[in-house]
Amino acid sequence: SLSVCVCVCVCILLKCSYCKSKAYLSGGNRMKIAIDLKRMKRKKELRKHIASLKTQLCTSTMRKLQSAKILAALEAHPAFRAANTILLYHSLGDEVDTHTFIKKWSSEKRILLPVVVGDDLELRIYTGPDDMTTGSYGIEEPTGEVFTDYAAIDLIAVPGVAFDRKGNRLGRGKGYYDRLLPRIPSACKAGICFPFQLVEEVPAESFDIRMDIIITTNENELSHPYHPLPSCDRE
Ligand code: ADP
Ligand code: MG
Repeated sequence: SLSVCVCVCVCILLKCSYCKSKAYLSGGNRMKIAIDLKRMKRKKELRKHIASLKTQLCTSTMRKLQSAKILAALEAHPAFRAANTILLYHSLGDEVDTHTFIKKWSSEKRILLPVVVGDDLELRIYTGPDDMTTGSYGIEEPTGEVFTDYAAIDLIAVPGVAFDRKGNRLGRGKGYYDRLLPRIPSACKAGICFPFQLVEEVPAESFDIRMDIIITTNENELSHPYHPLPSCDRE
């Protein structure tokens, strides 16, 4: 009778944990996890696709020429012209090249650059090429003063792997800008990319922050219907 009792107990325990796991992953939840996994997979595939386009289309001469054109479009944009404080990014080898652009504008505007600190981006004021150091991911970062007056930032140039016409952005997969951008809601967010990085659709998630405009060549400016440009009409 002891063995029968143990058997019954084990059955009850097993049934409970089965019910619990089933309740935990009930209907909607299971569906949500499946959709999230699918979206993550699509993001990963899109990153791979863009990387292969980069090696095909983006020789270093092309990259220099196109970067100059793209940044000419950025500096001609009313939002850039009106901006006093601008968060730029110090480009890596496969991004729209911002190195000379940063130097060029630092005498006229207050230029900020991101610094990777753990899972977050801290902002520092750019004070010149000598005040730079190599940080995480091999990115050049300023050693200047930390900047926390987020409300004073007028414009943010956001790098990305891909963008779509609705302003959705795909990053490198670490979510750094998704965590930074909500802290600077008043700034105009400009996605900066080569034309082949502007794709039909970027899989977006609830935490992904949309761009206000996309700056690339071929098209001067792309706004999107869900997010018009009040923050950029500040001239
Ligand atoms: P990326 O924007 O670099 O392409 P994802 O949008 O896929 O990358 O985000 C990468 C990961 O970062 C997400 O899986 C999520 O866990 C995390 N993440 C993104 N945004 C946030 C956020 N606002 N708060 C906390 N974690 C976030
Ligand atoms: Mg994201």
